[in-house]
Amino acid sequence: MSALDFTPTSTTRRLGDDERARILAAPGFGTHFTDFMAHARWTVQDGWAESSVLPYGPLQLSPAAAVLHYGQEIFEGLKAFRHADGSVWTFRPEANAERMQRSARRLALPELSAEDFLASLRALTAADEPWVPEPTGEESLYLRPFMFASEEFLGVRASHTVDYYVIASPAGPYFPRGVQPLVVWITDEYARAGAGGTGAAKCGGNYASSLLARRQAVENGADEVLFLDSETHTGIDELSGMNVFAITRDGRVLTPSLTGSILEGVTRASVLRLAQDRGLEVAEQRLVMSEVLEQLDSGEITEMFACGTAAVITPIGSFMAHGGTWTVGDGGSGETTLALRKELTDIQYGRIPDRHGWLTRLV
Ligand SMILES: *Cc1c(COP(=O)(O)O)cnc(C)c1O
Repeated sequence: MSALDFTPTSTTRRLGDDERARILAAPGFGTHFTDFMAHARWTVQDGWAESSVLPYGPLQLSPAAAVLHYGQEIFEGLKAFRHADGSVWTFRPEANAERMQRSARRLALPELSAEDFLASLRALTAADEPWVPEPTGEESLYLRPFMFASEEFLGVRASHTVDYYVIASPAGPYFPRGVQPLVVWITDEYARAGAGGTGAAKCGGNYASSLLARRQAVENGADEVLFLDSETHTGIDELSGMNVFAITRDGRVLTPSLTGSILEGVTRASVLRLAQDRGLEVAEQRLVMSEVLEQLDSGEITEMFACGTAAVITPIGSFMAHGGTWTVGDGGSGETTLALRKELTDIQYGRIPDRHGWLTRLV
């Protein structure tokens, strides 16, 4: 049972039908927001309370709010998909709820129950239902739950007041002109997470620490940056916001094991399962960067891809580093990569049976 009810405080839409239609015709990613947002507040005295769905708009925050100084913040990301019959579904939300609880523990934030998490998604998606795009291609409504330290206090300790919000943003197809393989820069200078750090938590700080490396990647002509383990700088960890996979010529599907510095992606777990279902051998193991580059040159590794909720599965076309350039396969999109991508999105949009019970109806 959900303890929080996320009752709407208003039914007045922020934007008119025409403006919403104009935005939904070309939503892009993360630039347009819906009419409403879900909110709940936690205080050390009363726990979680004051839940509602209210008009989307700027927050009032003290300049001394702890999050602005010490970065005590976590977030989640998942999508709502409209099926052909008009119903709206989301993918494995209990996994996101549990991960948000793990992130909360690591950042000394209060845990929100899985029931309350799901209730917030349901209430917001119901209020913003016209914002869930029609299933013409790969459109969705991206849901962004987040939680932060809002107490007005500059002392260093866990905040006594915490705010939780869910905002929503219509998302167009990630690859409007067809799937484009990524060029990935291998950073030998920066790490995103270290032993005992926050790498396994979905917190803004991890992203803040990745931005300079990502900028360096772009300056070197790449799209994304790959981080190695911080201790030895030899093992593959992940990209700044996506997990990494390799597929060998003999059909083994490999991904770095969860060492504590890698974020445990819901897409990663789903890909491992779908690959297994196809009869492929899957392994979570240490992947040594230099060995992977050799196996790309020898043709032993034929495909690599990155995965996460936003882009689903993105082929990696090549790697760049100070020492050179390595092409993955023929530099295009691998066959197994595209097959896994199609199967996952077909499940999400209700085009094939949901044999693992991964979908939850929202509206
Ligand atoms: C969110 C995220 C991922 C992908 O997780 P999904 O649950 O698949 O969206 C991977 N790495 C990092 C660092 C992330 O923040």
